[in-house]
Amino acid sequence: MLTVTNIHHSYNQTPVLFDCNLTVAAGQRLAIIGPSGCGKSTLLRIIAGLESDHTGAVWYEGVDITKRPAHQRRIGLMFQDHALFPHLSVADNVAYGLYGQPKSAIAARVASLLQLVGLPDLAHRSPDQLSGGERQRVALARSLAPSPRLLLLDEPFASLDRSLRDRLLDELPQWLAREGVATIYVTHDASEACQIARDLLVMRAGRIVRHGAVAALYNDPQSQFVASLLGMPHSIAYTITPHGITTVFGDLPITAPTTPGRLLIPADVGLMHAGKVPTGHLSGAVTSSFLRAPWQRLRITSLAGDAQFDYDMPQHLAPANGTNVTIPVRLERLTFVANDG
Ligand code: ADP
Ligand code: MG
Repeated sequence: MLTVTNIHHSYNQTPVLFDCNLTVAAGQRLAIIGPSGCGKSTLLRIIAGLESDHTGAVWYEGVDITKRPAHQRRIGLMFQDHALFPHLSVADNVAYGLYGQPKSAIAARVASLLQLVGLPDLAHRSPDQLSGGERQRVALARSLAPSPRLLLLDEPFASLDRSLRDRLLDELPQWLAREGVATIYVTHDASEACQIARDLLVMRAGRIVRHGAVAALYNDPQSQFVASLLGMPHSIAYTITPHGITTVFGDLPITAPTTPGRLLIPADVGLMHAGKVPTGHLSGAVTSSFLRAPWQRLRITSLAGDAQFDYDMPQHLAPANGTNVTIPVRLERLTFVANDG
């Protein structure tokens, strides 16, 4: 239903987007992730029709809408800085896109949306009587109200506390699925992206560098950049030997790419108290340990002392600081990533 092709964009002659392409099918939920400043909001604003001066095209439901102003695109929006109408109550803000429907239908729709975002009692408040997080939730309810075919959400939960965010991350995708709303969800938080969408698009410095199903990217991130975004920030250098590879944490009998790269430390590597280190296991020592609730975070340093990674595990199973440990990697699950700094 949405096809975006060859988008390049500059602000004051500074290029910020390079050859961006994406498609969204009816009802599909796509998350765009990438570090702050990589161009996510700009790409979303171009789809919404809020930027001019870009090259490339935006097609929506079979029509080239590249030159069409935002208010004629019929695409739902909720942006980071999206202001509410200050002179309208919370309920009237949410009802804004429902103009023309029977009053009782509007009231029921507004009530169920305020229930969804956890603000059933604030219908009659004015926006200036709300906290930032409450305003954000009203903006979300307003963007959902007319049940758009396509909804663009730009970091919609940025100012919510964790328990509220978790509840909405649980309920919002169910709501979107029930109403068949295709969604592009922008965030810098990969775990949030995974809860909303099955498909991820990864941006880096104005470029789309990966696109695929969440599981495919997690199982084969290909670059340290993508691995880090998905919660696997650690990798180690290796050299190839006749029997496999050698690393500062030990040797492994596996075939590795000959192109320079690194061995990714999976987030679920597992740890055992050291005894004799069996073949195919790595070894190191716990050199720091603290509770990063709910997990105990251990820093594992190679016995030669020149490489480290962090590992989270249940507190009651964690080996004590200072002990040597065996790292029973699952050989068939190890992945390699390209050198990308
Ligand atoms: P993200 O949403 O991924 O954090 P943005 O799309 O907001 O990134 O910004 C991409 C780049 O464009 C950044 O370098 C940012 O500083 C710049 N930028 C964003 N908006 C403007 C603007 N209105 N004028 C000039 N530069 C901008
Ligand atoms: Mg942004």
